[in-house]
Parts: sequence; C-alpha cells; structure tokens
Amino acid sequence: MDIQLNKERILHTFLSLASIDNPSLNERAMADEVQKHLIELGTAFLEDDSYTKTGGTAGNIYALYPGEKDLPPILFSAHLDSVDPAEGKRPFVHPDGRITSDGTTVLGADDVAGITAILEALRYINTNHLPHRHIELVFTYAEELYDVGSEHLNYRRLKSKDVYVLDSTGEIGTFIHKSPTIISFEFEICGLSAHAGFHPEDGVHAIKIAAEAIAAAKLGKVDESVTVNIGEISGGRGINVIPDHCIIRGEIRSYVHERGLEELENITRLFQTAATKYGGTIKSSQREGCHAYEIDLDAPVIKRFENVCEKLSLPFLPVKSFGGSDNNNFVKHGKSGIVLSCGMENPHSLQEFITADRLVALTKSIIALMTSDD
Ligand SMILES: [Zn+2]
Repeated sequence: MDIQLNKERILHTFLSLASIDNPSLNERAMADEVQKHLIELGTAFLEDDSYTKTGGTAGNIYALYPGEKDLPPILFSAHLDSVDPAEGKRPFVHPDGRITSDGTTVLGADDVAGITAILEALRYINTNHLPHRHIELVFTYAEELYDVGSEHLNYRRLKSKDVYVLDSTGEIGTFIHKSPTIISFEFEICGLSAHAGFHPEDGVHAIKIAAEAIAAAKLGKVDESVTVNIGEISGGRGINVIPDHCIIRGEIRSYVHERGLEELENITRLFQTAATKYGGTIKSSQREGCHAYEIDLDAPVIKRFENVCEKLSLPFLPVKSFGGSDNNNFVKHGKSGIVLSCGMENPHSLQEFITADRLVALTKSIIALMTSDD
C-alpha cells in the first residue's frame, strides 16, 4: 500500500494542536481549532450542548464525511482534553525525533496525536481523491474525567457499528480489546462532635468508624478480575475534638461488571456495619465511569485492523487494559469498538513523548482503515 505522507505537515499540525491549552472542561480553544480544520475539509459537523449540564466550555463534536464506497460506515474518535498540567504547553522536537513538553506540563499527545491522525488522514484522502466509505468522527470532551463527554453523547445519531478510538499507548499496531468496569465511590461518615478532654464519651467518632471499616476491607487485588482501592481520606476539625465527619474516596475495577458491583456492596456493608456499631450514619455515592467490555478477536472491527497492519507491515498487538476510555461508552451503547495506540509513551506524566515517525505511521493506518474494502 503506497501512502506518501508529508511528515512536516503532520508534525506542524501536531505541534500547533499540542500548543493549545486543553484541560478537561476547558476545551473551547481546542474545539474551535478542530472545527477550523473540519471547515477546511468541507466536513459538516455539529457540537452538542451537553457541557451546559456537566460544566465546561465545549461539547462533543460530531462530523460526517460522506464517501462513495458502498460499505457500512465506520467511526473514528479522539478526545479534546488532556490531563493537568495542560496549560502553557510548549512542545519541543528533539534532534533524535522525540517530541516532548518543556518539562513543566504534559505534552498532550494523549490525545492530540489521535486528533492529528484523524484530521491528516482526512486531508490526505481529500487531496488525493481517494475512494472511501462514509466516515463518522466524534471528538469528545472531558474524557480524562472518566468519560464525561462520551457519557453525554447522542448515540442515536451514530450510524456506524465499528468504532476506532485513538487513545492508547505503545507502538502503532497495539490496540485494546478488553477493558474493565471502573466504579468510583465516596462514603461520608457522620458522627457527633464532643470535647475530646471533657466529654469524649458524648461523641461519635467518625474517623474510628472509617478506620474500622477500612481495616476490615479487602484492598488491592481482591481476585484475578477485581481491584479495590481507598485512595483519599479526610476529616476531623481539630486535635481536641471528637471528629463528627470523615470522607473516604476510592475505586473498584473489574473485567466482570457484576463482580465490580458485588465488591461495591461488600465495602458499603462494612461502612454501614461500623457506623451502626458506634451510632454514626453514612451517606454513600458512586459513579460508574466505565463499563467492562471484551471484543472478540474475530470481530470485523479487529479483522479490518489486522489487514491494515499486514498491508503496512505494522505489528498486530492485541492487549487487555485495566484502564478505561471513551470506548467503554461506545461498546456500552452497542458499538463494536477497539482502542488504537496513538504512539504516545508515558502519558499522564511530564515525561510524556511521541515521535514524528509514529505520527506518520498512525496517520497511514487511519487512511488505510478509511479506504479499506472490508
Ligand atoms: Zn487519552
């Protein structure tokens, strides 16, 4: 397959997008820039207003790029936000080809590499008049806050069954086909304050309730498919006061959705039991940020990608991930989706990097998917 890409232009697009401030729920500038590209490409698009409910400055962008091939449409997706620190980014190209930030922010290749590849692939197809199928695009906001944007996406609008989310790490050819349910939880323990020296027996010790529940909880890898973590604790008003208040936050991950819910029940019971024992009460809340999925390696969405890898001499590397992405929401809504590596390394750190060669390889693979005959 002969795809001649202009590396300089891809690099230019990446560097200009990676210079835009894009913290989660503050993606306006990034959304505007992506829309500018879509207008240049002559692509109809719309932006939803779900951010007016979730907070934020930009919505999910949906675009349809009509094609002439009589094949089912396919959808490509990337997210507009980057994890903090994502303001004042200054991408820097090193002599060895690595692209990094200046060390004070993330690079934001997560997920600007994905946005770049989608836009540059469309530009190549457009310029070279390559026959292709109908292509749908979705650019989501606040993915880094456990898929807030894709949770509020209008799935009824989407025509594609097969979805490629560009949002993973490693060499091009790597893709995720299995991902867990991720549930975040919070327990607020209400006790009763009292003077710690004069009348400690009048108080209900919220921190003691929390400590007893946490000590009884099974944390870490509970079994082969489930992890439980308590990651934050806060409470108390002063060292001479029986604490009447304590908040505990944590998360559960499981490849088996029902097992995740079971663990949530278990840990909730421990907090309730401890609270009852000492005369306190608890308020609990939880959010399912991601829903577990596994896409069979024989599914057309994967077979198509396997063919592309073969044509482009890329490795074909299926992986299971214990992390989530927008793809959890796509699959939850009936899509057959996988998460492709964008070539980034060390995402969510100041040491994040990518190379221009990987951006080119990624863009080629997206062009090959958009123009494929299967
Ligand atoms: Zn990402």
